[in-house]
Amino acid sequence: MGGVIELRCVRCGRRYPPDEVAYTCPSCGDEGTLDVLYDYPALRRELDRERLSRNPERTMWRYAPLLPVQQLRLAAPLTVGWTPLYRVDGLASELGLARLYIKDEGRNPSASLKDRASAVALVRAREASAPVIAAASTGNAASSLACLCAAVGQRCVLLVPETAPPAKVAQLLIFGAEVRLVRGTYDDAFDLCMAACRAYGWYNRNTGVNPYLGEGKKTVALEICEQLEWQAPDLIFVPVGDGCILGGVDKGLRDLLSLGWIERMPRLIGVQAEGSAALANAWRRGSTAVEPVIPQTLADSISVGRPRDALKALRAVRESGGAFVTVSDAEILEAMQLLGRSTGVFAEPAGAAALAGLMCMARRGDLPGDQTAVALITGNGLKDIASALRAVPEPPRIEPSLEALRQSLAAGGIRLHRGSQ
Ligand SMILES: *Cc1c(COP(=O)(O)O)cnc(C)c1O
Ligand SMILES: [Zn+2]
Repeated sequence: MGGVIELRCVRCGRRYPPDEVAYTCPSCGDEGTLDVLYDYPALRRELDRERLSRNPERTMWRYAPLLPVQQLRLAAPLTVGWTPLYRVDGLASELGLARLYIKDEGRNPSASLKDRASAVALVRAREASAPVIAAASTGNAASSLACLCAAVGQRCVLLVPETAPPAKVAQLLIFGAEVRLVRGTYDDAFDLCMAACRAYGWYNRNTGVNPYLGEGKKTVALEICEQLEWQAPDLIFVPVGDGCILGGVDKGLRDLLSLGWIERMPRLIGVQAEGSAALANAWRRGSTAVEPVIPQTLADSISVGRPRDALKALRAVRESGGAFVTVSDAEILEAMQLLGRSTGVFAEPAGAAALAGLMCMARRGDLPGDQTAVALITGNGLKDIASALRAVPEPPRIEPSLEALRQSLAAGGIRLHRGSQ
């Protein structure tokens, strides 16, 4: 099982041999999500940053020794991970930061960070010869699983709320998955998927249940640190729905600390939509008891009433000295537009939320000016065009004549150059 030596319950701390438990802690139930732990002293002997830097593999599998998989030949032959980390100086100075980087996760095969988790789930399901992999999803986990399964001919069943954005549903259908649109919320689809996996023995790719998904997601943190030449940033902004990405980023950084490859822990900032802020609310109360909310935000990927990876997410923020920030839908749309026009990166609403959280802290004066920050842009904007169009004004319509164009440009305050009349 790779270098995995044990699974440890986040809630009660009980430890299990990796082949003894498939999903959550038997004594804690659903809340008992598990940490996947490796033989770090052995890894330290076998692996170092120097050797890693010579590895020509430009995908998440360059970190294979730190992942819970044995048979890499079972991975989908698609390029997951090693996405660009852009330094965006213009945007940084606009926000009063010394250095700002954006990690463009929209560059993954299905256009979101979820591919990192699905990639690990797919290998593990195939190692176990599972006939079917199932997932409930607000959209991206499903489109990601459908994409990777298509590449290897694996069957998958996907349960998504009927309100999922059409582009994401289109992805599922084009990838040939078994799709059911559930009349209900993501939380309803999730509960249905759990029941189906129990009833039919399907491999469960549900967030907050399958401990190995966070292991896939942690690779984004490994990459950020490697791309910054092992100088960990001061702050990482992570959009949060279930909390699995946040928990995964935290885990990746903990692994790097255990290996001695980074020296300090960045502060992790979880960003939630105001209308879907169950984790931010719990954090503000200083509690680990999460009260469900009725989620209401246009950022569908972080629209979650009952976060499934609550304990890992809360721990990540608390132990890193970070914070939760909540942002309104208007702030998310503003961030989407600012990101697009100042960097050329088009984010879906949840992805833009990371930047919205950063803008919010910058405005409140909560960001020291000498810091290096990274914003995780978790998904591509083409996945949800309807929301994007709400962020921008409609362009003027004109007759196809030079005169009409001149008048319209002048009305828009655009100065014309030499040769114009
Ligand atoms: C799933 C997702 C998130 C939130 O991740 P959680 O693990 O649910 O917190 C954020 N952004 C995008 C684009 C996503 O697909
Ligand atoms: Zn437990």
